[in-house]
Amino acid sequence: MFSEVGKKTPMAIRFSTVGGESGSADTARDPRGFAMKFYTEQGNWDLVGNNTPIFFIRDPVLFPSFIHTQKRNPVTHLKDPDMFWDFISLRPETTHQTTFLFTDRGTPDGFRHMNGYGSHTYKLVNKDNAAVYVKFHFKTDQGIKNLTTEQAEALASSDPDYSIRDLRNAIAAGTFPSWTMYIQVMTYEEAEKFKFNPFDLTKVWSQKEYPLKPVGRFTLNRNPSNYFIEIEQIAFAPSHMVPGIEPSPDKMLQGRLFAYADTHRHRLGPNFLQIPVNCPYRTTVANYQRDGPMCVGDNQGGAPNYFPNSFSGPSDCSQFKERPDTFTGDVERYNSADEDNFTQTGDFYRNVLTEPERARLADNIAGHVINAQEFIRQRAISNFAKADPALGQAIQERVNKLKATNARL
Ligand code: NDP
Repeated sequence: MFSEVGKKTPMAIRFSTVGGESGSADTARDPRGFAMKFYTEQGNWDLVGNNTPIFFIRDPVLFPSFIHTQKRNPVTHLKDPDMFWDFISLRPETTHQTTFLFTDRGTPDGFRHMNGYGSHTYKLVNKDNAAVYVKFHFKTDQGIKNLTTEQAEALASSDPDYSIRDLRNAIAAGTFPSWTMYIQVMTYEEAEKFKFNPFDLTKVWSQKEYPLKPVGRFTLNRNPSNYFIEIEQIAFAPSHMVPGIEPSPDKMLQGRLFAYADTHRHRLGPNFLQIPVNCPYRTTVANYQRDGPMCVGDNQGGAPNYFPNSFSGPSDCSQFKERPDTFTGDVERYNSADEDNFTQTGDFYRNVLTEPERARLADNIAGHVINAQEFIRQRAISNFAKADPALGQAIQERVNKLKATNARL
């Protein structure tokens, strides 16, 4: 899809919130899913991102636990501030993303006014088999627009479908939203010498050091004709890649390469790739996989189902081999909790946010963490204080005030 300027590739996208179930309030403070599927002539490329350039954790072994803390307590079936802040405060690498979440961007004004990010580091490989590391950014052409906490809370009760309606109506009215796509590029040599692990999903690459280069644009010009068929059944997997786009050693990405396809086999069945919205319809599938529940195609007819064979079955496409990488070092399980969790959060707080944004950030964190138990709350505030003492102090002062007025207890 990047082979020539002006080339057009069909795509599908799904926006979502994370914590709530289908039908829950669209305007909740929550990361937004930003999942894209590009139907190229060489198969489907899925970029399964968020509206933030980073994530809460850097080790996929923690992913199920993290997600549990965003969902309901299994005993009470209620959202649980203790679960939320217990995990977050025990894993200080969450501080950067948690800070993003409690800024104004944690409550975007619908789906049209937020940026998207591939978040992970990926590899782009050219025709000469030379590779670079990249990050993908999608900037909204509609401009960033956020809701205040008060507006988001009011809409959650008066119009829980706010974001989906806004998107659907805009497209139906012919006001097609679009996003400009950029990449940041880092060479292998730069990655070797980089000041931190360039594959750490809890950190950004500074746009000053690694400027954004425009590479394309996508436009949403059609609504689904049936929500279940085209959205409920769409199955994104970071392992869906096309020649020239490859995973980096980012551990979170390596974990997600397995987890998403596993989920779809469980959720939709082993032949989920035959469902029209998931089918790489611009190419012909030719492999040695057969059968299984809900096999609805021709099951590759009379083509041989073993390899090697003497009957013109598909060959191994060696021209599309992944580019080899060389690594040295020990392969072992280790705790990655302590890999500079606070420098970028502090930079963000001091240098990116304005004074009113800093004040709202402290308001938003205090208004949420007040609902956790005291010992958890103190541990959480101390992490924010490690990013910047002024942030810790601002949260503590607001918590003290809320406690005094008993406002949220
Ligand atoms: P830059 O000035 O290059 O990056 C600052 C970026 O912060 C902006 O480009 C924007 O990202 C994002 N941003 C601006 N306002 C807000 C906000 N209210 N809430 C959330 N994000 C906002 O500086 P550096 O690259 O040196 O980064 C400094 C800090 O900025 C980092 O430590 C990180 O915390 C944060 N940051 C950096 C991003 C990056 O890709 N370099 C992206 C997001 C945050 P965008 O252009 O993507 O909208």
